[in-house]
Amino acid sequence: QEDHFKKVISHAKEYGYIFGSSEIYDGLSAVYDYGQNGAELKKNIRDYWWKSMVQMHDNIVGIDASIFMHPTTWKASGHVDAFNDPLIDNKDSKKRYRADVLIEDYAEKLNQKALKEIAKAKKRFGDKFDEQEFVTTNPRVLRYRKEQETVLQRMARSLEAEDLADVKALIEELGIADPDTGSKNWTDVRQFNLMFGTKLGASAETATDLYLRPETAQGIFVNFLNVQKTGRMKIPFGIAQTGKAFRNEIVARQFIFRMREFEQMEMQFFVRPGDELKWYEHWKETRLKWHLSLGLGEENYRFHDHEKLAHYANAAADIEFDFPFGFKELEGIHSRTDFDLKAHEEFSGKKLQFFDPELNENYVPYVVETSIGLDRMFLAVFSKSLEEEELENGSTRTVLKLPAILAPVKAAILPLVKKDGLPEVAQKIIDDLKYDFNVTYDEKDAVGRRYRRQDAAGTPFCITVDHDTLEDESVTIRDRDTMEQKRVKISELATILHEKIDF
Ligand code: ATP
Repeated sequence: QEDHFKKVISHAKEYGYIFGSSEIYDGLSAVYDYGQNGAELKKNIRDYWWKSMVQMHDNIVGIDASIFMHPTTWKASGHVDAFNDPLIDNKDSKKRYRADVLIEDYAEKLNQKALKEIAKAKKRFGDKFDEQEFVTTNPRVLRYRKEQETVLQRMARSLEAEDLADVKALIEELGIADPDTGSKNWTDVRQFNLMFGTKLGASAETATDLYLRPETAQGIFVNFLNVQKTGRMKIPFGIAQTGKAFRNEIVARQFIFRMREFEQMEMQFFVRPGDELKWYEHWKETRLKWHLSLGLGEENYRFHDHEKLAHYANAAADIEFDFPFGFKELEGIHSRTDFDLKAHEEFSGKKLQFFDPELNENYVPYVVETSIGLDRMFLAVFSKSLEEEELENGSTRTVLKLPAILAPVKAAILPLVKKDGLPEVAQKIIDDLKYDFNVTYDEKDAVGRRYRRQDAAGTPFCITVDHDTLEDESVTIRDRDTMEQKRVKISELATILHEKIDF
């Protein structure tokens, strides 16, 4: 798995998907740039999301709010007071860690020990192994699981109560050491706000302190009435948005999984108070279906229902994905109650209510949100698509099996040779297709090498122009995944590509 992850990172660079930010200056930690193919893939994921969420729903509309917002927004939303991570430093190594992540890693080790016991027993008992029975009776497994639960519960309780001394005590009692140096010489735990601050205005005296938004949701809440009134929206309805968000993440590792500057795709759905849990279930199901529609494999997704809820939520679940480093959150679905709109009413002094003609009453709507990281979705799609495939002749090929609808380049047009008028025919095909599809031209190297190059770049179709083309106006179309080749008329190409790529 670790190996696969390394391959994902180097492949993303080699094929123009992702570069480290300002690399010539040795990069900037947890900040990345998307290259020529990455920008296309990212745009296609965003479009696929927008189309299914906005275009396909007549009661959902999209907006584009600013990254800068009035600073009071973040007081109302609770981010100034509560958007914190508990930090701890190691006095010897001078390294900084998130205390909750250190404890979670410890708990995960207990989980791994339990899984090892289960795997051992499975091997020993073969077909007769009853896992359910084993995990409920084996004393070692029970002990590991119990300890794991106790540790996580105590951490959750202490964080909830802002009892940072107890979080430190827990780290000491568990004997957790600096993962790099083994030192157990820790400082106290303190809260660190994740928002980036900046200033608006020229002179130091009059400048206002601002934050870069840490989530896109608040741009939707503050515009709730603008959109409802001007769009004449009736509850239930949704407002969608994609855009950049910024968080000063401390544990910034795992490539584009956790970035300091990233993009979110969020939809806030406004419902009648009391209906929120019904809609929460609806959106959980709908969002999982969206993921499954890409065909990356059902086994790669699972729900994780939250027991510990954020201050604004009355139900929350993650859709987790099997990343190269295990199952982790990809998307969150949260029932946010009327927390945000009520808070904005209170801080702004403006009413944010909806008159419901059926009930003949005014109320502050409840909100169910779906929130997904575009970059995280990129990593999910990219890492699952990258395969080293054994071929029948014993050789291997590297193939990036991106869903065709998301692939940056849909087809490569290849003249078999660089002469005899074949390049001109290829160019003519490009000129016909380029209005509808992102297509590319390649004439360098033997055609087999060119196929491999397009396989690795993720191009789903190769269209080859050969000498017969001059006679029969037909070309060969090759499928990246099956490597099957078919002879088709040039005049049919656009229809064939539309059929395979549109949704
Ligand atoms: P995590 O627990 O992984 O930090 P979160 O629970 O803080 O995530 P939310 O605030 O619910 O995340 O944000 C919604 C989505 O935004 C997440 O599901 C994730 O896909 C994405 N996201 C959040 N933080 C980052 C980040 N630092 N880099 C990339 N994507 C992120």
